[in-house]
Amino acid sequence: MTRDEKGYIQFHCDWTAAGPPEGPLVLALANWRDRLYRLGLIGVYPDGVGFGNVSGRRSGGGFVISGTATGGVSSLGPEHFAEVTGYDIAANTLACRGPVRASSESLSHAGVYEADPTVGAVFHVHHLGLWKHFYGRLPTTVPTAEAGTPEMAWAIANLLADPVVRAGGVFVMGGHREGLMAFGPTPDDAGQRIVKVFEAWTVELLE
Ligand SMILES: [Zn+2]
Repeated sequence: MTRDEKGYIQFHCDWTAAGPPEGPLVLALANWRDRLYRLGLIGVYPDGVGFGNVSGRRSGGGFVISGTATGGVSSLGPEHFAEVTGYDIAANTLACRGPVRASSESLSHAGVYEADPTVGAVFHVHHLGLWKHFYGRLPTTVPTAEAGTPEMAWAIANLLADPVVRAGGVFVMGGHREGLMAFGPTPDDAGQRIVKVFEAWTVELLE
C-alpha cells in the first residue's frame, strides 16, 4: 500500500486484459451514459481528463463500470466497459477485467452497492452548478472525504445508512467538488433520478 504526498492511499487497479463484458445491462448503461454525456454531466475537461462514470451490478457478483479515459467518447459500446471482479476499499485496490481499466472512482460505486443490496445501478456525474446548488440541500457526504479515496467510500456508506437517503437515490459528494451520484434498482431508475435533479436546477435558473 503506497500513499501520495497528501497521505492518501493511492488507488491500485489490478487489470486483466479481456474481451468486452456482454449482456443487456452493459447496453442499458451505455445508452444512459450517452444521454448524460449529451447533458454535459459526463465528458472530458479541456486538459483531456475525463469525468463521470456509470456502473451496474452483475447478478453473479461484482459490477461493470465505464472505463477510465472514456470521457471524451461521444457514444460508448461494450468495449468501453470493465468488469470489477473484486476490491478492497481499505487498501484502495480493485481487480478488474475487460478491454479497458475500471475508473479510479470505482470504489465510490462499490460503497453504494455495499450499503444497499437493492441497488442495481450507480451513476456518477460532475457538474459545478448542480454541486453548488444542491450541496447541503440534497444528502451530502462529509467534506473531509475526497474523490477516489477509501474515506469517500466509507462516507457514502455512512450516508446510505439512512433509509430516507436510500429511498431518494441522489446525493452530493461533499469533498469532491462537482461530484454527485445517483443510484437505483435499475439503470433507468438511476438515470431518471439524476435527470430530474438536472431539470429542477435548470427550471430554478430560469425563474
Ligand atoms: Zn468524480
